[in-house]
Amino acid sequence: SNLQLNEKEDKPKSEENGEKCSFKDKAAQSLLNKLIRSNLVNTTNQVEVLQRDPNSPLYSVKSFEELRLKPPLLQGVYAMGFNRPSKIQENALPMMLAEPPQNLIAQSQSGTGKTAAFVLAMLSHVDPSNKWPQCLCVSPTYELALQTGKVIEQMGKFYPEVKLMYAIRGNKLERGMKLQEQIVIGTPGTVLDWCQKLKFIDPKKIKVFVLDEADVMIATQGHLDQSIRIQRMLPKTCQMLLFSATFEETVWNFAKRIIPDPNIIKLKREEETLDTIKQYYVVCNSKEEKFQALCNIYGAITIAQAMIFCHTRRTAGWLAGELSKEGHQVALLSGEMQVEQRAAVIQRFREGKEKVLVTTNVCARGIDVEQVSVVINFDLPVDKDGNPDNETYLHRIGRTGRFGKRGLAINMVDSKFSMNILNRIQEHFNKKIEKLDTDDLDEIE
Ligand code: ADP
Repeated sequence: SNLQLNEKEDKPKSEENGEKCSFKDKAAQSLLNKLIRSNLVNTTNQVEVLQRDPNSPLYSVKSFEELRLKPPLLQGVYAMGFNRPSKIQENALPMMLAEPPQNLIAQSQSGTGKTAAFVLAMLSHVDPSNKWPQCLCVSPTYELALQTGKVIEQMGKFYPEVKLMYAIRGNKLERGMKLQEQIVIGTPGTVLDWCQKLKFIDPKKIKVFVLDEADVMIATQGHLDQSIRIQRMLPKTCQMLLFSATFEETVWNFAKRIIPDPNIIKLKREEETLDTIKQYYVVCNSKEEKFQALCNIYGAITIAQAMIFCHTRRTAGWLAGELSKEGHQVALLSGEMQVEQRAAVIQRFREGKEKVLVTTNVCARGIDVEQVSVVINFDLPVDKDGNPDNETYLHRIGRTGRFGKRGLAINMVDSKFSMNILNRIQEHFNKKIEKLDTDDLDEIE
């Protein structure tokens, strides 16, 4: 893997380059989420269901038995440790397994059980006695395809007649051959080639088409176009399923373009709030002073675990070094690390092996480390135009109501510019950020 997140660097980027970076960021973020997630996220929000035919009854299931799965699949589900369907699975599974097949657009944040749901649908619809591809799943990258493939293998463990093939660049097959595997998972370019130019797959025989990570997929025009070209080769009777973790207008337009007559299932993200957070700021004149203030804070209060955010790799590296010299056990997340390495660092931090995690902005996006008691913005979050990045600020220090442990956030200000950013963040959230004197820290604990 050579996926890397795009961090602030000094060179300007061309438009096309920008598109590539945003795609890589999103794909890497999504992979990171998969690598660090070991169970379902807790959600308190309600699932919204929009049926294609509002008059047909709405089925939802509370157990896997109710789905009348093939015995080896039920066995596979239980062997994975699933006791009951997740929130979105309660509604999505009956729709996906209905006869005749129904199309579906489903949106919910990562970790809510989408992958497990469509894998179960693919495995259920396969006829293992037919030795040709029947289910086609497209993913944005090779690494993401591989993760889904692993789920297929786990869930299909007791159903060994069903075989899986990866349609990815580098997987070279002999000309003129026909695939015998019932499930093919791959990236759009290769899948398209295998259907169209090389004819390893007969698209007319596909019964289930899955487009996973639609929000990542459409970050490049190439993937978007290829996905549509694949979809056009499929028969009218083919079941079409689209999944996305987010639902901006662009994803929605794409989804409606590619999935005919869909049912729609949405599960809103858990809202984050600053209500349970005490926010402070510290005024300094340089990064050395900021480091000194940090040491003072460490000397004054007990910090179980802290995350410290920096704007650039260079600052993050420097700070991690300084903290190590002070005797802290520091974990460092940085964009030149591969996604798997980053996942390992986060895992160690979660297990409490390190007490301080120093990271750049981009790297830590989307990471939830619930036990962190203190978040330090060594640099305030700004977007590429130098405006306050309120969303990132909220995501870093905000908590969901459910896990609303009290938290502490400390912002380091080192210039007029950053003071202005701080004021604008304060105004945006309409929540006071108190000034902290790091030579007199009695007040915060
Ligand atoms: P998503 O595709 O939405 O990111 P996944 O299908 O990967 O979500 O599920 C997230 C995690 O939860 C995975 O570790 C998966 O094994 C687990 N999981 C999925 N469905 C269930 C379930 N019904 N019960 C328990 N765990 C589940």
